[in-house]
Formats: sequence, structure tokens, C-alpha cells
Amino acid sequence: MDSFNPCLDCGICCTHFRISFYWGEADDAPGGFVPAAMTEKLNPFMRCMKGSNDANRRCSALEGTLGQQVSCSIYENRPTPCREFPVYFDDGTPNPKCDELRAKINLPPLPNPHPSRVIVAAADPAAEVFTA
Ligand code: SF4
Ligand code: SF4
Repeated sequence: MDSFNPCLDCGICCTHFRISFYWGEADDAPGGFVPAAMTEKLNPFMRCMKGSNDANRRCSALEGTLGQQVSCSIYENRPTPCREFPVYFDDGTPNPKCDELRAKINLPPLPNPHPSRVIVAAADPAAEVFTA
């Protein structure tokens, strides 16, 4: 599973959320790193990725075709929300949101690399737990 990257043919989360973050992450602020030209102002303190606040939501940094082949054109400089959205089982724990979003573009659920762990309470995401 080490080389398996389910995001390369997915990308749906980059079209689902408004990607908002503290303005100081943009590179026109001291120490910022997100290309400011790809952001828009939400309020005096927050910006978001262009496109992610539109009715047809899609982050302007996303390249490619959803469900086929995608990439983030600013991957090394992506903002905090993108870094903090965990890929399913990336850290050994589930992100059920991945499967929920993938289903919207007819992608299959992600394989469980830890078959001994089973989701036992999927009806309530807040209550999801594992059994070993
Ligand atoms: S929804 Fe999950 S699998 Fe799909 S691109 Fe986002 S993090 Fe990757
Ligand atoms: S910055 Fe990159 S990872 Fe973040 S939403 Fe946009 S395309 Fe996706």
C-alpha cells in the first residue's frame, strides 16, 4: 500500500469544500507560502482558494479531470486545510468523508489496508470506532 495514492485519480475534495485559511498563509504576507494570486479575500482575516467559493465549486489550483487524473498545481504550497484533510487510512485511521465524496463521482470505496480494523458504527460519523 506504500505507493498507493488514491488522490491521483480522485480530487473530489478539492471541489467540495470552501478552502479558507488565515490570510497570512498567502505569499504576499511575511512568511506566507500560498500563491496570493490564486486566493481571494473573504474578510480582513481570512482568504480562500479562488474557485472554492463559487457556485460550481472547484479550487483553481486543481488540474486534470475528476475521477480520472488530477493534481494540485501548488502542492508544496497548499494551504493548511488541504494539509489537514487526511486521506482515508493515511495515518491508520479512517476518513469516511473520502468514501462519501468518492461515491459522488462513482469511484469505489478505498481499500482497507488494515483488514483487522472494521468500522462498526458507520451510521453516526461521530461514533465511528474500530475493533482490532
Ligand atoms: S476525497 Fe480523499 S481520496 Fe479523494 S482526493 Fe480527497 S483526500 Fe484524496
Ligand atoms: S490547493 Fe491543491 S489540495 Fe488544496 S483544494 Fe486546491 S487543488 Fe486541492
